[in-house]
Amino acid sequence: MSELNIFLGPPGAGKGTQALKIASEFDLAHISTGDMLREHVSSGTELGKIAKSLLDEGNLVPDKLVIEMLLERLNNEDCKNGAILDGFPRTLPQAKSLESLDKEFPVAKVFVFEVNEDELIKRILLRGEMTGRSDDTEESIKVRFEVYKKDTQPLVDFYNEKNLVNVIDAVGEVEDIYNSISRHFK
Ligand code: AMP
Repeated sequence: MSELNIFLGPPGAGKGTQALKIASEFDLAHISTGDMLREHVSSGTELGKIAKSLLDEGNLVPDKLVIEMLLERLNNEDCKNGAILDGFPRTLPQAKSLESLDKEFPVAKVFVFEVNEDELIKRILLRGEMTGRSDDTEESIKVRFEVYKKDTQPLVDFYNEKNLVNVIDAVGEVEDIYNSISRHFK
């Protein structure tokens, strides 16, 4: 049995930064569906061709494609000890797809990252300047926030009903935020 830990939160909340640290400290796989999709785009696969404009606009890639990609990834040897899901699930159908894996890959914990919108915009624009990430633009940020509120935020209730949610105040020093997450893994 390999437990899944979900990092849920709006774009720019710091999920990726914390997922990297937690995964390396506790020997878990770090699965970022955003990173995987960006790799598909840069290597020009069929999936990458479909995903490119959706990513740039800030819209979601269709559930079926992302779910397939994730299920395949979970078969990797590095998931045996459990995984951090960074950016998945983002919709109710995606969350339900995990329910059917419950025997092999139960969802153990869900961390909901909370950051106010002004801070998120500041962080995303800064990241865009530093990395050149093509969806870190003002137009795309607006769409990504709307998509988050409409499609992803309802998952907080979905997992609250299962008593799996830990809310993380994700404003402040990276190390302090890390400590507030890592104590749940000890
Ligand atoms: P992220 O790096 O997590 O911010 O994701 C960047 C972009 O990849 C998103 O804006 C979506 O276009 C796409 N993406 C990442 N994860 C998912 C997912 N679970 N479902 C659908 N689209 C996704």
